[in-house]
Amino acid sequence: MGKASASYSDSSSYFCWDKDAFYNSMLDLSLGSLTSYHITLINNTVTELQSLHDSILSCDHHPRAGLPLLASPPAPPRRYQPRQPLPGVATKQKKNKNSSFPLKKGKSETITPPYEWATNRRASVHSLDSLYFKNIHEITGDVQCRRCESKYEMGFNLVESFTEVAKFIWENKCEMADRAPDVWMNPTLPTCRYCGQENSVKPVIPRSKKAINWLFLLLGQMLGCCTLDQLRYFCKYRRHHRTGAKDRVLYLTYLNLCKQLDPNGPFDR
Ligand SMILES: [Zn+2]
Repeated sequence: MGKASASYSDSSSYFCWDKDAFYNSMLDLSLGSLTSYHITLINNTVTELQSLHDSILSCDHHPRAGLPLLASPPAPPRRYQPRQPLPGVATKQKKNKNSSFPLKKGKSETITPPYEWATNRRASVHSLDSLYFKNIHEITGDVQCRRCESKYEMGFNLVESFTEVAKFIWENKCEMADRAPDVWMNPTLPTCRYCGQENSVKPVIPRSKKAINWLFLLLGQMLGCCTLDQLRYFCKYRRHHRTGAKDRVLYLTYLNLCKQLDPNGPFDR
């Protein structure tokens, strides 16, 4: 955790998305909210260690042979290991999924990436690893003040802002029950740089849906400023069921964008 904290607070060398450090720190904070997957993993490890312990003690040549078992089993490891896809399986599934997706006549599979952090697929952004190699640390977007109507560009630190969103999801996912909470539905907007009005700067969302700056909206936690139609567009191109109410579609959009950034993170539905 020390490594990660230092990296985030030092803007000169801040790009260091240390997944292990982040998720382990989350694990330390919220052992009570472990998923059944993690609990099974830990239980299996304890069982394996216990049986190994038993087999050593049952060996005639072992100096502790015949002695009673230790009072308590060894403490389970408290490290979160992201699930790794089986070689070949994930790629194959993805390919099939994409090839079966129907596109309207005249719509191409690929687009010109509207931002350097976006890919040539609709509603798609590069992963944190890719952005790191592209040397992209700040995500910018256009905003406009509702009071003085000043229009300007602002930016979010990629790792710092993503960490904030990921931490929030990690801590609140169970309570969310597949629906976006109020803070996502009615986001608190940034303060205007020019008139100082709080909760006043709205993101400028382009009419053309393929030009929407999804990553900027995610990092500013302003996806709730999108209309239901815009969010459904995102879910449509991310192959998600998209007929629900806004809170459900918004929830899916948040999780899917986080998953795109960190494919091995805990962002499955
Ligand atoms: Zn203003």
